[in-house]
Amino acid sequence: MDSPLFGPEHLEFRDRVRAFAQHDIAPLARALDQESRFPWDNVKGMAALGLLGVPWPKALGGAGADYLSYILTIHEIAKVDASHAITVSAHTTLATSPIIEFGSDAQRDTFVPRLAQGRVLGGFALTEPGAGSDAGGTKTTAVRSGDHYVLNGSKLFITHGGVGEVYVVTARTDPAAPRTHGITAFLVTKDTTDLSETARAGVGHDATLPKCPGVKAGKREDKLGWRASDTRELIFQDALVPAENILGTPGQGFRMMLQTLDAGRIGLAALALGIAEGAFEQCIAYTGSRTQFGKPIASFQGVHFPLADMATEIAAAHHLVYHAAWLKMNARPFRQAAAMAKLYASELAMRVTTKAVQLHGAAGYTSEYPVERMMRDAKICEIGEGTSEIQRIVIARSLLGDLID
Ligand SMILES: Cc1cc2nc3c(=O)[nH]c(=O)nc-3n(C[C@H](O)[C@H](O)[C@H](O)COP(=O)(O)OP(=O)(O)OC[C@H]3O[C@@H](n4cnc5c(N)ncnc54)[C@H](O)[C@@H]3O)c2cc1C
Repeated sequence: MDSPLFGPEHLEFRDRVRAFAQHDIAPLARALDQESRFPWDNVKGMAALGLLGVPWPKALGGAGADYLSYILTIHEIAKVDASHAITVSAHTTLATSPIIEFGSDAQRDTFVPRLAQGRVLGGFALTEPGAGSDAGGTKTTAVRSGDHYVLNGSKLFITHGGVGEVYVVTARTDPAAPRTHGITAFLVTKDTTDLSETARAGVGHDATLPKCPGVKAGKREDKLGWRASDTRELIFQDALVPAENILGTPGQGFRMMLQTLDAGRIGLAALALGIAEGAFEQCIAYTGSRTQFGKPIASFQGVHFPLADMATEIAAAHHLVYHAAWLKMNARPFRQAAAMAKLYASELAMRVTTKAVQLHGAAGYTSEYPVERMMRDAKICEIGEGTSEIQRIVIARSLLGDLID
């Protein structure tokens, strides 16, 4: 779909990402999903194309493209495979953008080129066993000890918790402060769990980056979808983090992470939109080729209606997603627009993929066709980076302001 917001540079960027997605990702997506395998070779390919640092300046190792190009990247990749798309999105928006936004010059110089060039993968560690939607309920502690902080606790469901080497982590530094005020963000490092694979692929591990002792990855989650994405617990046992790795202002970690999530939601909305559009494209192809009652099933009016509904709702989601991206890119307030885009696109991805399986009949229920994987991949979009219920709360708060306590 075109948009008045896209210039020739966006279309050219989109074509390059689309070619990579079709040529390098699509043929592997089914096997990676079935084997729950992290796609290191494609991480290398994406790094070579600049897709792990699309919106960051070239001086910091990024591609120097704009935010719309970044959102187009996630959208295009998700049409083919959501696991690859969340790798780009979690790495870029959740792990690197807080360093760009809140980091010191020294932190940016140390971490951003490594992340933007894919020399290491990054993650964002906010969720805990007792702190999901209520992320202010952080129990992980960070206690000052000389030049370091000692972290204890654990984070749950962390994208790249195993494969990554750099994390933005929240921990409670002031137990006496009001709930969300005593939380500080830290830059925490560890070695990837995939040392042999990263050595083979030549990407994802940087031995020159000092690592924090006491940080380790926990069990790998066995998930319904996003199966080629690495989701793990991240454990801190007397982990030693240099005091210079505090990100931004001490005690402001919760506020900074909420800001990071506002932008993250545009990425996740683009991912959900990509899944919906990918499933829709499968439906156009399948209903045109599948013959029943002597005709392609696409000739039945009962098939026209869901296809028309899908196309209309995908167009609506497209406008919401790129409008939110444009607001962010132009430094306008975007919290409400991002929550609306995420809410609508993620619920749409579930509607479209469920209908896509239906339009494929029994074939759609098998792994021969990608729509069953797309349906499984869509579900987490209604949960991650704030559930649909939390998006409705964010939207209602921005509508009602002071009327809500
Ligand atoms: C594949 C995957 C990847 C993830 N990646 C990351 C990551 O990289 N970093 C990270 O920090 N986290 C990550 N998460 C965690 C994710 O962000 C949380 O799962 C999500 O925020 C919801 O938290 P929860 O699972 O604890 O659900 P809960 O908060 O326990 O919610 C359970 C249900 O209660 C509802 N609910 C809760 N509070 C309210 C309320 N006030 N009003 C109405 N309904 C409410 C929810 O909407 C939901 O339906 C990931 C999760 C998954 C599954």
